[in-house]
Amino acid sequence: MVLPHEPEFQQAYDELVSAIQDSTLFEEQPKYKKVIPVVSVPERIIQFRVVWENDKGEAQVNNGYRVQFNSALGPYKGGLRFHPSVNLSILKFLGFEQIFKNALTGLSMGGGKGGSDFNPKDKSDAEIRRFCVSFMRALARYIGQDTDVPAGDIGVGGREVGYLFGAYKQMQNNWSGVLTGKGINWGGSLIRPEATGYGTVYYVEKMIEKATKGKETFKGKKVTISGSGNVAQYAALKVNELGGIVVSLSDSKGSIISKKGITNEQVEAIAKAKLQFKSLEQIIKDEARIFDDSIEYIAGVRPWTKVGQVDVALPCATQNEVSGEEAKALVDAGCKFIAEGSNMGSTKEAIEVFESNRSNDVWYAPGKAANCGGVAVSGLEMAQNSQRVTWSNEEVDSKLKDIMYTCFENCYDTAVKYSTDKNSQGLPSLLKGANIAGFIKVADAMFDQGEVF
Ligand code: NDP
Repeated sequence: MVLPHEPEFQQAYDELVSAIQDSTLFEEQPKYKKVIPVVSVPERIIQFRVVWENDKGEAQVNNGYRVQFNSALGPYKGGLRFHPSVNLSILKFLGFEQIFKNALTGLSMGGGKGGSDFNPKDKSDAEIRRFCVSFMRALARYIGQDTDVPAGDIGVGGREVGYLFGAYKQMQNNWSGVLTGKGINWGGSLIRPEATGYGTVYYVEKMIEKATKGKETFKGKKVTISGSGNVAQYAALKVNELGGIVVSLSDSKGSIISKKGITNEQVEAIAKAKLQFKSLEQIIKDEARIFDDSIEYIAGVRPWTKVGQVDVALPCATQNEVSGEEAKALVDAGCKFIAEGSNMGSTKEAIEVFESNRSNDVWYAPGKAANCGGVAVSGLEMAQNSQRVTWSNEEVDSKLKDIMYTCFENCYDTAVKYSTDKNSQGLPSLLKGANIAGFIKVADAMFDQGEVF
């Protein structure tokens, strides 16, 4: 399949297909070949105009989208992204990833993704609110708690989910769990904001335990993280809690590097300032009391080549944020564990570097496995909404841990089962394990439901 106008979607498709082709699955069960051309076409794409009013009373227009990719396992589920780079190729790649990620959580959720090329960064709170109302005016008739349940992603956090939910409720005269990531006192789940970052770290805990046969943990490990938004913040806090040392964070303008380790107080100051869209450069200037000389700011770069020796790398900003050269630099600097908090964080070239170093104990986990904790807790939020109950912090966190640990074991066992290099001494490919395990679950449901025959 060649889609020159959809490079991101093509990349996500190629990753899945080549992972499966480079295994024994098609040889053992050729029927699965028939699923590929069907599963790679979205069930439905909704594209709409969003006209909203700016603070000067002028009409502004943006593109809105919802890709309802696959509903074999449950209602379409996946976030909304508000970012100027949003287009159909990006949303199709994200929706495609989401199908198999949601399957890996073990919960009943199909895959979807949506968003807009609206840039929230230079907008006032009132403009963001009016945009969300206009966006929902176009989307409301296509979603529902048993149809399609969106959530947040880049540029869509708790504030935006609140405005979108309020607009939906008013338009439809219906209070239901139609969005996840809601506020805690109006239907949200505890641990949802934390879930993606925490979940990624829980997944890596298992990678470390398995690779070192239980001899090592996060304790004392140097961890380089990119991004400084929702996923990066909570990944950093969990690494600190487990005794690791967070040596970097970044944003779209540059990176901060800390040899001593980025503290919880620093992460919390960043979280607060990011709500006002401040850059890291500005934040460390404004909060000089908290960010002392141990923090170095480097403009215009990602952290990977600037952090020196590290043990773990967690890309948590955006797609294609690790190049082949950067992957090589990480491996040369001793990095053994790479897990994506972001979706498709690594380029094809970077993945090749990581995968070809499995025999040197380098282990890579793709986003569809390592970051499935966010959507998993969204699934738990849907379950709580249906039952009209609220589970405690401990209850949700323990279910999240359980889902991430089970997801890891599933990826590991599937990689071993369908490996073409059964006699090799290297670590099994979690890239293949994740793609194959997610694919089989969705494919079996599609056969059962007569979508493929
Ligand atoms: P946020 O908007 O909270 O944060 C995004 C971070 O990435 C910010 O630090 C931002 O910098 C940076 N960033 C965004 N675009 C770019 C770019 N083009 N180049 C460099 N840096 C960039 O988003 P999330 O933390 O929610 O999402 C991060 C990643 O995790 C995304 O890939 C998302 O799809 C994925 N993900 C998120 C989930 C969730 O539950 N939120 C669930 C699963 C995956 P700046 O501050 O300068 O804008």
